[in-house]
Amino acid sequence: MEIRVRYAPSPTGNQHIGGIRTALYNYLYARSKGGKFILRLEDTDQTRCEERYTKNLYDSFDWLGFRWDEGPDTGGPHGPYVQSERFDLYKKHAAELVERGHAYYCFCSSERLEEVRREREASKSSETGYDRFCREIPLEEAASRVASGEAHTIRLKIPLGKSTTYTDHVIGKVEWKNEDINSDPVLLKSDGFPTYHLAVIIDDHIMGITHILRAQEWLPSTPIHVILYDSFGWQHPEFCHLPMVMGLDGKKLSKRHGSTSLNEFIEQGYLPQALINYIAMVGASFEEGKEIYSLDELITHFSIDKLSKSPAIFDYKKLEWFNGQYIRMMSDDALAAATLPFAIAQGLFGKPGEKPTGAQEELFKKSMPLVKERVVFLTEIPGKVEYLFKDFVLPPKEEFIPKKADLNQTLDSLKKGKDIVKQLIEAKTDEEAENFIKTYCEKEGLKLGDLMMPLRVAITGSKVSPPLFPSLRLLGEEQTLKRIDSAIMLLEN
Ligand code: GLU
Repeated sequence: MEIRVRYAPSPTGNQHIGGIRTALYNYLYARSKGGKFILRLEDTDQTRCEERYTKNLYDSFDWLGFRWDEGPDTGGPHGPYVQSERFDLYKKHAAELVERGHAYYCFCSSERLEEVRREREASKSSETGYDRFCREIPLEEAASRVASGEAHTIRLKIPLGKSTTYTDHVIGKVEWKNEDINSDPVLLKSDGFPTYHLAVIIDDHIMGITHILRAQEWLPSTPIHVILYDSFGWQHPEFCHLPMVMGLDGKKLSKRHGSTSLNEFIEQGYLPQALINYIAMVGASFEEGKEIYSLDELITHFSIDKLSKSPAIFDYKKLEWFNGQYIRMMSDDALAAATLPFAIAQGLFGKPGEKPTGAQEELFKKSMPLVKERVVFLTEIPGKVEYLFKDFVLPPKEEFIPKKADLNQTLDSLKKGKDIVKQLIEAKTDEEAENFIKTYCEKEGLKLGDLMMPLRVAITGSKVSPPLFPSLRLLGEEQTLKRIDSAIMLLEN
């Protein structure tokens, strides 16, 4: 049997972490089984769906770098993959259910439903949902009312006095008393639009979906779906409800905990590989002790048997750790390319938005080894290497003066520094430069730190900076000397 799974978002908002995880698990499962991963747009709620959210969906997966095999843009044997283009299909099937006695026409107006709700409230009744007012109208009578143009919906006739049972691959056996299920939900609305329940069942069946991996928030809908499958005489796919995603405090992940929409993670400077790797861990177990997985490795190791039943914790700190690890694993060229848009936006090469010249781009690439080990987010990089691209306002005098030293000693250090710039730049390796400066300090009776610190501040503008020797090499002799001179001038006045 070919495994066929789907990601079925409604374009009513931007892509968020929960949705991405659902898509990822579906993708991993399909790939691990040589099956197919399908994208279906569930845009039946036309009041809430917007074009910009569909665009966000495509942009998000372009960024993430994994794709579906069949979908609205790629096509496939069961298209169209957009529900609003499949309305005739839903109508036809809804009418068929009525014919078979599993659904019925309902003529209740929204005013009447509101009235029922108010009466119940007043009498403090525990009853909820539809009161099944139209359930027993004989089909012939109902059909003639429909034919005469009376407004109607189609409702599912939930069999009463029974239970609905199914086995969820993750959760195990699930049983619902039918009386506890949303009472006779609408399948087809009065405007002819299907509801989620009807459309999802028909599409999953027709598209040959074998497994449904989706969020646990859909658990209450599942018995309705099982009843629908039974009503059509179809076999339902295997259900795998994914564990909830929680914050560290055990509450459902939300804005209160941090970013949840993918755009925010992109803007913060996360790498897609890091995000994918971490998200895959949130709700499934992989090998003991191994944390870094490429997408291919995730495919190899993923199994729906390893999905966890209990809620999964989304730990932002852990995600940051993953991002740092992935930054360190990147080549200089790849890291520079990934960071370039942020550098341009932050104005590293001129005004914000200005692109680099060839020389600037070259320097940018060469500066990557200086920061690779020191950042967690791509967005931190431009600020950290800015001193290589721009002159800066020198910090106040006190910043230059090492502990236990004074102004004159500091000036002396800077002047001595000027004498050895050439040798430091010409040293073949950092180690060679370090040995040279150490020997020089011994000879001059200087403490290493008392020489290094003022030099560092003069050259980078800060006491804490990327390594000094490679910075000197990237800046070159002329720039370096100019900066030391400016510092000397500041300290002398
Ligand atoms: N359209 C639903 C959503 O927005 C799909 C739920 C399902 O996977 O059945 O998540």
